[in-house]
Amino acid sequence: MKIGIYPGSFDPITLGHLDIIIRASKLVDELVIGVLNNPAKKTVFNEAERVQLVERVLKEYKLGSNIKVEAFNGLSVDFANKKNASFIVRGLRAVTDFDYELQLAQTNHKMKPDIDTIFFTTRLEYSYLSSSTVREIASFGGDIKLFVPECIVQSVYDKYKAIRSV
Ligand code: ADP
Repeated sequence: MKIGIYPGSFDPITLGHLDIIIRASKLVDELVIGVLNNPAKKTVFNEAERVQLVERVLKEYKLGSNIKVEAFNGLSVDFANKKNASFIVRGLRAVTDFDYELQLAQTNHKMKPDIDTIFFTTRLEYSYLSSSTVREIASFGGDIKLFVPECIVQSVYDKYKAIRSV
C-alpha cells in the first residue's frame, strides 16, 4: 500500500492546499495530512482548530475515503516513518519556493533514504496564494472567499473577531 503524508501548517487551509490534497490523493492509496505543531512557530489557529478546519473541508468536498488528518510535531520524516509512508507531498508555487523545498527534500532524503518527496506544481490560479496572505486579508476584514473553501470562511472571520476583541 502506497502511503503519503502532506505536512504543513495549514494556518488555515487554503484552496491551494485543497488542490494539492485532491491531486495527491489520486496518486497514493492513503494520504495523511499532517498538521504541524511547531512550538517555535506561532500560529493564529491552534492545533485542534487547524485539524478541525481541514476535517470540515474534507467532509464538505466528500474526500474522506483515503485521506486522513492528524496533528504531529517534530520532523516530517519521523511522522512519515510512523505512518509507514514512503512519500512526502509538497506543493511548489513559484521559484521562490524552490530553494527551500529542494534543501528540505534533500535533507529528508539523506535522513531517510526510503522516503521520497513528491512535488506538485500549483495550479496557476493558486500560485500566488498562501495562508499568510489569507490571514492578512482576514485580519483587515477583507474578502477571503476566493482563497479558502467556503465552509471555513466564517470560522476565519470569527477567529479574527475574537482576536480583535481581546
Ligand atoms: P503556507 O506556506 O501557505 O503557510 P504550509 O506551511 O501549510 O502553507 O504549506 C504546506 C505545503 O503546501 C507546502 O509544500 C507549500 O508549498 C504548499 N502550499 C501552500 N500554499 C500552496 C498553494 N497555494 N498551492 C500549492 N501548494 C501550496
